[in-house]
This record gives sequence, structure tokens and C-alpha cells, in this order.
Amino acid sequence: MINTTLQRLYLLQVVTTPILPAGMANAVCYLVQTNDGKQILIDSGSPAEYQPPPGVPAAEQEKHVTEQLADLDLCPDDINMVICTHFDVDHAGYHDAFPKAQFIVQREHYELARSGHPRFATSRPHWDHPALQYRLIDGDTELLLGLTLLKTNGHAPGHQSVLRGARQGSRGLGHQRPATGMSSTIGISSVASRSKLAGSAGRYNLRMRILLGANT
Ligand SMILES: [Zn+2]
Repeated sequence: MINTTLQRLYLLQVVTTPILPAGMANAVCYLVQTNDGKQILIDSGSPAEYQPPPGVPAAEQEKHVTEQLADLDLCPDDINMVICTHFDVDHAGYHDAFPKAQFIVQREHYELARSGHPRFATSRPHWDHPALQYRLIDGDTELLLGLTLLKTNGHAPGHQSVLRGARQGSRGLGHQRPATGMSSTIGISSVASRSKLAGSAGRYNLRMRILLGANT
């Protein structure tokens, strides 16, 4: 797909949760459409059955990824590829809805999750479905012209971000806030990943804004 170029990018806001006292947390996916008609999803959002832990407010607004795609006249089988930033429950909850797609994930993250790490157990029935085809990658990978996957350890080991390049600028899709309760090593790694994203923008001679995650 290296001669394929990014044509259109959609932000799909799937869940909005109030965070007291006055904040909001959003779970989002992205849809990339290419010049040769490919449909690439980035993450798949929270599963329909997900219940927040005690003390965490229920979502105020939910419109899951399949409903968002239907609004664009797309069905799950239209999706050619799913880029997995990581397997937290708010990012991997609908993976099994896309059995025709190729899933792309960093090998380090996939192997950690498959080893039974409890953090990824809630969403495991969705991302570890036998019908899904995974392509494991090792490190930074240029997926197509204008879209590069960057391995950005921090929020989770083997987390990856998506760097979108364009003539007017570039933007990182993913999040780099360390997860609550993660070790300081992970925190330091997250800072390093932010620097890596910024450095990548510099190498491409592009302006860039790193999107800090509003969720974990
Ligand atoms: Zn996460």
C-alpha cells in the first residue's frame, strides 16, 4: 500500500463520560479513507456490554463504532484494515465485528496481551477472536504515504501511535498519558514517546500537535 495516499480522515467519538467535577472523557476511533478506496479503522472503541467500575460515572453518550460507520453508509465488512493502538477495553471492544479486516498491532503489545496480562482481559473476547487476522509489526512502519505507525511505549508496552502527514501539518493519533497505576518506568517511557513523536514531526519538517489522551 506504499503508493496509496490518505484522502479523508474521520473522528468517530464513540463514548463520552463525565469526569467529576467538570471534565469529560472521550473514547474515540478514527476512520481513514484512501485514494484507492481502502477503509482503515484506528481502534474500535468500548464494547456494548462494558460497565464502568464502581464509582466511575456511566457514559452520557454512546454511539458505538458500527453505528458511526452506518452513518457513513459503511458496514463492518467494508473495513479493510484495523490499526490497533493497544488493547485497553475502550480501544478494542469491537475488533470482532471486523472479521474481513487485517489487524495491525505491535508484536510486543500483542504478545504481552496474549500472555494473559490482566489489564487486557476484559476486552480479550473481542481482540482475541479466532476469526481475526493479525499482522504483527516491530517498531516504526510507514503504512502508506502520509500515514506512519510509531511505536510509542508509555501508556502501555508496545503502544503505537499513528502519524498523519500532510502539506499543512501532521498530527499524532493515539495517546501518551501513562495509565493510572502504571510504574514510573512507564511514565518515563511515555515522556520519551512524546519526544519521539515531536522528533518525528521535525524529521518530516512538519508542524505537529500531540493529542494527549483524555482517557485510559
Ligand atoms: Zn488505554
